[in-house]
Amino acid sequence: MTYTKQLSAAGAVLIMLVGAVLISGMAGCGEADRASGPELGAAAKTFDSDVPPMNPEQKACPICGNAIKENVYVDVDDEGTTKRIYFDSDQCKQLFQQNMETELMKFKSKMQAQSS
Ligand SMILES: [Zn+2]
Repeated sequence: MTYTKQLSAAGAVLIMLVGAVLISGMAGCGEADRASGPELGAAAKTFDSDVPPMNPEQKACPICGNAIKENVYVDVDDEGTTKRIYFDSDQCKQLFQQNMETELMKFKSKMQAQSS
């Protein structure tokens, strides 16, 4: 009797393992194009700010893809609401500001791609 119990327990573990591999395999697929990028830190939503982030899930600088910093940002008007976009450096922030309309559009379309 105990032998059968052990066997089914082993089967359950195996199923869980296969499930974990499948899930991690799927998650890795979407990240493939930035696999060589830097390690990203906290998301924008974890920052202590009065201004809501444009993308709460933002972790990467929209210009270069490095991890964002809480104190480097641009506040933009999003349909009447002020939203914050974070950067990793002043240079990237300036690049964004120089080309605000295009960069903002890129940022938003990337956001939509991520959420869908
Ligand atoms: Zn950057």
